Amino acid sequence: MGQVDGFLTYERHQLQYEEVADRVKHYEEFVKPVSEKETNEQAARCMDCGIPFCHSGCPLGNKIPDFNDAVYRGEFKEAWGILKSTNNFPEFTGRICPAPCEGSCVLGINNDPVSIEHVEKTIAETAWAEGWEQPHDIKVKTGKTVAVVGSGPAGLAVADQLCKQGHDVTVYERDVQAGGLLRFGIPDFKLDKKVVQRRIDQMKESGIKFELGVEIGKDIQATELEDKFDALVLTTGATKARDLPIPGRELEGIYPAMKFLKANSSVVQGEADEVPAELHAGGCNVVVIGGGDTGSDCVGTSNRHGAKSITQIELLDKPSESRETTNPWPEWPMILRTSTSQKEGVERSWSILTKEFIGENGKLTGLRLVDVEWTDKSKFQFNEIEGSERVVPCERAYLAIGFLGPEQGILEQLGVETTDRSNVKDNMYQTSKENIFAAGDCRRGQSLVVWAISEGRKAAYSVNKYLKTL
Ligand SMILES: Cc1cc2nc3c(=O)[nH]c(=O)nc-3n(C[C@H](O)[C@H](O)[C@H](O)COP(=O)(O)OP(=O)(O)OC[C@H]3O[C@@H](n4cnc5c(N)ncnc54)[C@H](O)[C@@H]3O)c2cc1C
Ligand code: SF4
Repeated sequence: MGQVDGFLTYERHQLQYEEVADRVKHYEEFVKPVSEKETNEQAARCMDCGIPFCHSGCPLGNKIPDFNDAVYRGEFKEAWGILKSTNNFPEFTGRICPAPCEGSCVLGINNDPVSIEHVEKTIAETAWAEGWEQPHDIKVKTGKTVAVVGSGPAGLAVADQLCKQGHDVTVYERDVQAGGLLRFGIPDFKLDKKVVQRRIDQMKESGIKFELGVEIGKDIQATELEDKFDALVLTTGATKARDLPIPGRELEGIYPAMKFLKANSSVVQGEADEVPAELHAGGCNVVVIGGGDTGSDCVGTSNRHGAKSITQIELLDKPSESRETTNPWPEWPMILRTSTSQKEGVERSWSILTKEFIGENGKLTGLRLVDVEWTDKSKFQFNEIEGSERVVPCERAYLAIGFLGPEQGILEQLGVETTDRSNVKDNMYQTSKENIFAAGDCRRGQSLVVWAISEGRKAAYSVNKYLKTL
């Protein structure tokens, strides 16, 4: 363990950000650098508490007290070795993970938890800067071939793990660039795409092939891949967005969040010239429907477009400021959070039902809203509050109300079974067909990057076991 009384000596360091007025003018990351001394002090706060609940809080099982101790001693290469033993891409999770580990940190019972995510990012970036992150040097090849469909974090983790085992891996991606939601979902100001590309380039140098702009099921039949490769891994994500089929839905100005975010990211990343005018939020009254993280990304992007006003509404009621008794430590705290995007300017409201989209000449001009009172959340029952109905001006509504699972075309072509929630059905990541595997959002439903990496690692283990039987 590092400094015995570190948690008594040092406060948690809150990350500092570029001023709002400056950062909304660009799409770059805006976290201010943290000094080596401060990082060392943050690592020193780890108590090495005996039963590190953070291990199980982290879906990857990152060995957090061990890398904290190494950072405290200034042994960054050792810390990187510990971190890499469980996490293929700590440069991603160190930036955009909601850090469930911190929710289960023992110090968090009666104090601020250790800044685990910050320490993770620092280790990862030190490793890249020092040149410790190198392509895999594969000495023995197995001669076995694997196709991975989808290049999000799950697909990248599967590919990385199987490459290390000596298999020949080809990743197929329908988008023009690799990374899945890391590339075109999560905005650039949260995750710089140079960081994503750096990893993809390194994976290519390791021998992993990337076939971009190829949609399996359309450009190449899925069954063709099945015949060509020894194993097939589906990591296609859960990209089917939930719609809001209420009166007026046909009006121009109402878009799924991902359509808006992807159009914007494509411009920022130089893949398109401009965001189509009908999607752009500039000068508009924007209402983001859905109070979650995807909605928050729409808020950050709308602010950068120069929206006239931004409102984010949520059907569920407002979370409490601190843990409810029904949500004790070490569970993930279901509390009110305000993202950096929301801090840039938005009016947030809860317990609001959208009843109708209103328009003129085919274009959206307003939303009819009503306040609701929840009577039984477990049964999804609520009452509309009489007299609260009103129309708010709105020329752009972005729907960020969740995802319904993976697209079914490729699954139907391959004939793999699905669950009653339309996700891929599996047994230890092996689908109903023994040579086909699945991981990430297409298996578990829309989730988190850290879960996608974790699933990719576990699926790779199953694939490797299967390939050994051939
Ligand atoms: C807007 C947004 C913001 C988010 N922000 C965060 C965040 O800050 N932190 C966090 O932890 N999580 C976040 N998430 C969730 C996280 O991004 C996902 O859980 C994660 O990316 C899932 O990884 P995946 O590899 O399973 O799928 P995806 O990342 O969705 O990748 C699937 C890939 O498969 C490709 N594909 C699909 N079908 C085919 C086909 N037939 N042929 C070829 N390619 C195909 C898709 O084009 C895509 O590139 C966010 C999600 C969204 C929508
Ligand atoms: S990956 Fe996420 S949960 Fe795991 S240690 Fe890093 S920040 Fe915590």
